[in-house]
Formats: sequence, structure tokens, C-alpha cells
Amino acid sequence: MTPPLRQIAEHIRENDNFLVLSHVSPDGDALGSMLAMGELLAALGKRVTLFNESGIPHRFEWLAPKREILTQLPAEEPDTIIVLDCGGPERTGQIIKPWMEAKTVINIDHHLGNPLFGNLNWVEQRASSVGEMVGMLARALDVPLVGLLGEYVYLALISDTGDFCFNNTRPETLEMAAEILRLGLLPGPFHEQKQSTGTLSQLQMRGTVLHQARLHADGRISLIAFTRELFERTGTGPEDTEGLVNTVLYVRGVQVAISLREEKEGIKFSLRSKGSTNVQAVAARFGGGGHRNAAGGNLIMDMERAKETMVRAVTEELDRP
Ligand code: 5GP
Ligand code: MN
Repeated sequence: MTPPLRQIAEHIRENDNFLVLSHVSPDGDALGSMLAMGELLAALGKRVTLFNESGIPHRFEWLAPKREILTQLPAEEPDTIIVLDCGGPERTGQIIKPWMEAKTVINIDHHLGNPLFGNLNWVEQRASSVGEMVGMLARALDVPLVGLLGEYVYLALISDTGDFCFNNTRPETLEMAAEILRLGLLPGPFHEQKQSTGTLSQLQMRGTVLHQARLHADGRISLIAFTRELFERTGTGPEDTEGLVNTVLYVRGVQVAISLREEKEGIKFSLRSKGSTNVQAVAARFGGGGHRNAAGGNLIMDMERAKETMVRAVTEELDRP
């Protein structure tokens, strides 16, 4: 067992009152690992509050978690804050900030360049997902990955590995998934629920964006863009962009896919790469972060400038000797 894992397991055994949070605009790993941590702590008889500044996105409402996810600070102050899937302290959002200074913070994460902002830090870049790390913690604390705990870990595993297709899928990841299936999870219905959460207008909006996809840098970069005008015209929103960036890696010869999305202020960018191309390095240049093959961040500029800026930065990374 790695030393941070052992220390965190001990800290959990010895303390009682926890607040568990994950990054703003949570994805399947952020939600899965947070909900799994909630089940794990509850199984150990601990008091636990779940917190996420953005709340639960519509596409995850099917999870119908029985434990509430707070979007405001609870009245009762916890002893310990467990921060999950946050590559940096800014990813926790604004509301929790005062408590991040005042409480014991446990930072459990798998992003490149995590600055170890907690009092206890367990950062495992090789872990497929933070959900996989919560699964390891459950084993260390002798809690089986059964029922909801198993489901939530499984959600995190499939979300961050692209259904066990990405490079971060390790033998250990598949062994954990196998353990969860052995304990009763049915993958067919679970994947079906996770995949079929959209509406016709969301599907058509995504079709429009794909139709307008463009190639750059001699076909090595594909780019898609979501504008506010398109959201308004189609009755859709930022949440409905999820995952489409992976689809544009489809084009033969493309090494990096860029997705740009107009926000109230500026542009949110998402990058995906094949092979050894490091998009985390590109995102980090603009104050963002992530992993070698999946990264993101924000640009304070308009869409046209953002296109030029990202295409140039990615081309530089591709041309690096
Ligand atoms: P996505 O493109 O799906 O939003 O995110 C891809 C990866 O990049 C995820 O691991 C996510 O945590 C990370 N990421 C996305 N946006 C940001 C950001 O603004 N800052 C940092 N540090 N990481 C980000
Ligand atoms: Mn993650």
C-alpha cells in the first residue's frame, strides 16, 4: 500500500465528520468518486456531507443519488474536507474557499501537475480515475465494492477510460471492474442508462457542430465550436457538448481534437490527443490542466481569436522535435 493511501485510511478511521467535494461542472469521475466516497464513509459509520458547487448535471439525473449533493456550505462544519478529481485548488470553485484554508484537506487526484495543495496528498497519475483510487481506499478499509459503492466506482471507471478504451486503462482498472461485476453490477443496463440521456434537439445540435468541423495543420488537428447563438437557436446548453470532442478524433490522420465553447465570459477549451502528444502541456500554457491525452481550460477572448490561439499552440506542440 502506498504511504499516502495508508495515511488517508488511518485518518478516515480516526475522524468522524467529513465533507467530500469534486470539481465544478462535474464529469462521471468527479460525481462517481464523490458519491462512492459518500457510500464508503457511510459504510464505516462516519458523518458525511457531499458538496459540488455546480450540483448534479441533467445528464446524470438518472443516478438519483439518495444522498443530497449540496451546492451551498452546510451549517455544520466538517473536520476534514476530501477533495476529489481536482488538478488544482481552483477547480473546487469559489464557495468552499474559506474552508479550504481552515480545515484539514485531503487531496485525492490523478492529474498531471497537481500542486499538492492538501494537508494529505495522494496523487496517482497512473490511476485511470479518482474512482479507481476510491476503490483502492475501500479495499484498504475492508469495505466491499458492492451495491451503490460498486456502481459509483464503475461509473468513474467507464467515464474516465472512455468505456475502457483509452490509454489509462490498466490491468488493475479492469480487475476492479471485474470485481464489481462479480459483486452483482450488470454492465448492459448500466451503460444503457448512462448513454441514453439526450433529447432530439441535443442530438441535432451535435450534428450541426459536427457538420461544421474543420481540419487544420495539414489534417493533424480537427476543430469543433459551440456558440451561444447555436445553444439559443436549438434550446440546448453547455452541458450538451459533453464528449463530442472525442468523436472528432475519428478523422484519419488527426492527432489532436480541439473543442471550443462560448461561455458567458470567454471560451472553454477541451483537447484530446492520440498517442504521445501531450495536450496537458498545451492547456497548462493557458492556466488549464488535465492529462496527456485529455485536457482543458479557459481563454478570455472571442471565438475567432480562440480558434487561432489554440490551433497555433497545438501546432507548436505537434511540431516540437
Ligand atoms: P474536459 O475537456 O472534459 O472538460 O476535461 C478534460 C480534462 O482536463 C479533465 O481531466 C479535466 O479535469 C481537465 N480540465 C478541464 N478543464 C480544466 C481547467 O479549466 N483547469 C484544469 N486545471 N483542468 C481542466
Ligand atoms: Mn478524473
